[in-house]
Amino acid sequence: MSAAIQNCLGCGNLLFPARLFCPDCGAEDFSTVPVEHGDVTETTKLADGTLLATLTIPGGPSVVGRVTGGPAMSGDRLPLANDLKTMTGVYAYVPLRSTPNEDTTNEEKP
Ligand SMILES: [Zn+2]
Repeated sequence: MSAAIQNCLGCGNLLFPARLFCPDCGAEDFSTVPVEHGDVTETTKLADGTLLATLTIPGGPSVVGRVTGGPAMSGDRLPLANDLKTMTGVYAYVPLRSTPNEDTTNEEKP
């Protein structure tokens, strides 16, 4: 699996989180590209124990995902996934959202 990252069809920028229009060129047409891995630059542990990671992706922005399946620390390269059911091992879960206003699904809790 992979994370699906928004790709501007106007200028080719990768955007995260998904936007309604490109902040660089103003285009409103996007595709999504699969991104397999990200490099952890920072982690944050929430009060409930959830570990969030900020990861850089090749040629793109930083993305934020939930570390699932084990610990992670800065410098680790983690697989990215947008589906909690298909991955094993340690990975970063980056939920799939086609646009900011279309998030009508309820995310599953682990
Ligand atoms: Zn653009």
